Amino acid sequence: MNSNNNNNNDSSSEDDLQVYETLTKLPPPNELLPRKLTIDIDVKSLYPLKPLPQFCKTYTTFIEESSQKQCIIPDIQVTDENRTLLDYYEENKQNLVYKRFDQLDLGKRTSNDRTYFASLLANFKRTQPRVFFRGEALFDQKLTPCSCDQIQFDSNFESGNLFCAFKKADNVYDLILQNDINTRGNTQWFFFSVTGAKAGQTIQFNILNHLKTGSLFNEGLQPAVYSVKENQLVGTEWCREGFNISYFKSVFMKEYPLSLKKKYYQLRFHYTFKHDGDKVYFAHSYPYTYTNLLEFLNTQLEDQERNQYLSRKVLCTTLGGNTCEVLTITSNSLQKRAFRKGVVFLARQHPGEPQGSYVMQGIIEFLTSNNPQADYLRQNCIFKIFPMMNSDGVVNGNYRCGLEGSDLNRRWKKPNKYLHPSVYYAKKYVKGFSKERQILLVVDLHGHSRKQSSFVYGCAYSSQVKTIERVFALLMSKVNPFMDYSSCTFRVENAKDKTARIQLWRELKINWVYTYECSFYGQQKKHYQIKDYLNCGVSICNALSQIVKDTTKEFTNQANQPDIQQQMLEELGKMPQTDDQDNGSDSSQSEAELSDDEMVQLFQPKTYSMKQKSLLKQQETNNKKKPQQPNSNLKSTLASQKTSILQESPSKNSEQKPPMSSQKPKNPLYRIQAPQRVRQIDQVKQPELPLMVDKSVQTDDWMYRQWLIQMGKLKKQQEFQSFTPTRNIYKSSSQSVTRFIVKNSTTKNDRGRVDSISLMASGLQNKLSSSSQQRQMMRYSGSNFMS
Ligand SMILES: [Zn+2]
Repeated sequence: MNSNNNNNNDSSSEDDLQVYETLTKLPPPNELLPRKLTIDIDVKSLYPLKPLPQFCKTYTTFIEESSQKQCIIPDIQVTDENRTLLDYYEENKQNLVYKRFDQLDLGKRTSNDRTYFASLLANFKRTQPRVFFRGEALFDQKLTPCSCDQIQFDSNFESGNLFCAFKKADNVYDLILQNDINTRGNTQWFFFSVTGAKAGQTIQFNILNHLKTGSLFNEGLQPAVYSVKENQLVGTEWCREGFNISYFKSVFMKEYPLSLKKKYYQLRFHYTFKHDGDKVYFAHSYPYTYTNLLEFLNTQLEDQERNQYLSRKVLCTTLGGNTCEVLTITSNSLQKRAFRKGVVFLARQHPGEPQGSYVMQGIIEFLTSNNPQADYLRQNCIFKIFPMMNSDGVVNGNYRCGLEGSDLNRRWKKPNKYLHPSVYYAKKYVKGFSKERQILLVVDLHGHSRKQSSFVYGCAYSSQVKTIERVFALLMSKVNPFMDYSSCTFRVENAKDKTARIQLWRELKINWVYTYECSFYGQQKKHYQIKDYLNCGVSICNALSQIVKDTTKEFTNQANQPDIQQQMLEELGKMPQTDDQDNGSDSSQSEAELSDDEMVQLFQPKTYSMKQKSLLKQQETNNKKKPQQPNSNLKSTLASQKTSILQESPSKNSEQKPPMSSQKPKNPLYRIQAPQRVRQIDQVKQPELPLMVDKSVQTDDWMYRQWLIQMGKLKKQQEFQSFTPTRNIYKSSSQSVTRFIVKNSTTKNDRGRVDSISLMASGLQNKLSSSSQQRQMMRYSGSNFMS
């Protein structure tokens, strides 16, 4: 034993020596690599871009010109009712002074008819983008612009979208905007620059191809103008200038649909240049580019104070190769992390609405600041922020659509992974987030081109009943001087069924899902400045902190404070009944979008349209073979069943399988007709387990999962679910030990409303007083609370 011990001691000391020697021979450990915080500013565009000046750094100086004279809508002498822009082009070819893609080698012409004026057909298998003019390949040969003219236009920069310019007369220029890529139009946003004017020279600009039938330009809105010289000399940034502004029906017909003979709308404005050799930018509103966003995020990420609360992640890569970012803002302390509420902000689904980005910037700046209210919000909430959903559209100067030519805010019902990656992944991400914690609020930020002020669209089944959905909107309008509650509407419109707002409201049962609209103009005929948009973002956070205090005060011994939600509901009850009418909706689906079929031919691989197309083809062939499909609809099925029963023909009966039969998997029609059945199944379908965590969704919050596992919650939920017939609509609430069991109403009008409420404590001991629980419940119970 002793000798052994000695041996051991000896050998261990030798080992120690060896280990020591080995260690000393090792190279020194690497220094800890610093976390890479900044984002590479890498903007991928379909064509080369020139840099823009450093716009909007201080937001302080702002001069509002009062030179806007009474607008007089000019009388247009209509010569030919059926003229299109193609005719205009043919007549004015020799006056062409600018075209956007002049410098590009745009490939050889094709006789593809599915090409539209100013459309860029980007075939992503090849690298070369192409420009066509209804199949004419307008830009194959380079046209020589009039050299005599000193005025030079440019739009080859980020978010720029002037397609071409014609000199109509001295100091009069006709401009044509570039269609949204791969669409037949959607032209409303504009952004271009002019050089070569003399000081004091006044120029009239006519933008010939606007989409919308009405505009705030007739109510006093002026174009956003940025003069480089003026900025160098006196520091003026973007301001609203221009005079003799009018917006009216153009003489030119839209190329599509030609049969409807719809007209374009024309914007006319005048501008007097202040300096010789100046470069002046003109835009629909203060531009906010993808580069601006990345630069802003970098300043946040580099800031030692701010970056401790902010993390970023690439959600996906867009069709154009740009990144779609998702940011997380929350306190870095682990305390109460599991109890934090979820909040989601989205912006720039519509690329031509830069206001959304300024509001978003206001939100991010506030939430990462050292303001005590921001600190409170970080302690109690986890913010998931999608700052630019449509970076491709922003880069390429689109107004409404992404690169594939569709409105992303109409793709939330069934987004395609390949065509709408940012929507697909954002939806998946938000769904995963909702399984992890209760989402209190979702705000999708937009700009409105027809209405003044800022306001929200919310969801509600009835416009008559003042429900919980309105509470947060009213509170926001109280803390935000720029928000007008009377302009808000709360409806679930069929036309907007596929928007982020309605889909998230429906699928995730979140009461406060809003589309937040900020006017391109301002309010009470006063232009919004950039800082006003930023302040709108701060106000949203202010309202949120009040409501979070309200919903968490049971935990913070503040139960004696007045209940803000109840106050708001009472106030709503006193308001006169109004039928929400949304005049001048900014969201109607445009006929300028290509159909799925047409898109299929542009984007051949990997699209759902291909599948859909093959389904449609099979359907067509099947229809030809069997014009009267027994299960084509319920009526005909019933009728045929009836006749078959009357005829008592066994052979026919065996042929006609009932529509609910599950023995027809091979028939493609079966899938197409599925919705009718799915809806029936939906009603009896087992609801999703409330605390189930989808591991495929990569949320950052592994802490919460760990906590869940430890508490054995999941199992208890499952056990509970198996014997209760009720439906748990509010998933893990902040106090995850408290579960709200809500029975669905059966009446049709009241679908989704809360009928009766029971409360159940599971797992941990619930220390709350029953009255406070009930109050909490009532807040969620909407209309019943009011009645
Ligand atoms: Zn919008």
